[in-house]
Amino acid sequence: MTSERRPVFNHKVCMACRICVDVCPVSCIATASRGTNKDPHGYPFLAEAADCISCGQCAEDCPVEAVAMAAA
Ligand code: SF4
Ligand code: SF4
Repeated sequence: MTSERRPVFNHKVCMACRICVDVCPVSCIATASRGTNKDPHGYPFLAEAADCISCGQCAEDCPVEAVAMAAA
């Protein structure tokens, strides 16, 4: 049995740096602006959940631990 996991983004901690977007090997993270000064690039969300391979790279490389991997 495979353990499917998906990233959960904590936007209270996220600093909208886009590192998670850039490191995702299957480009399934997108960003959307919340219209605040804090998010020049927009906040990340899992845009293509079906494409996520549960690798955890986004959580590993987030500099402020704003990404948690949760069971899908
Ligand atoms: S777990 Fe891997 S594939 Fe899934 S969103 Fe994060 S970096 Fe992308
Ligand atoms: S790497 Fe972390 S801080 Fe940067 S945009 Fe992604 S969740 Fe936010």
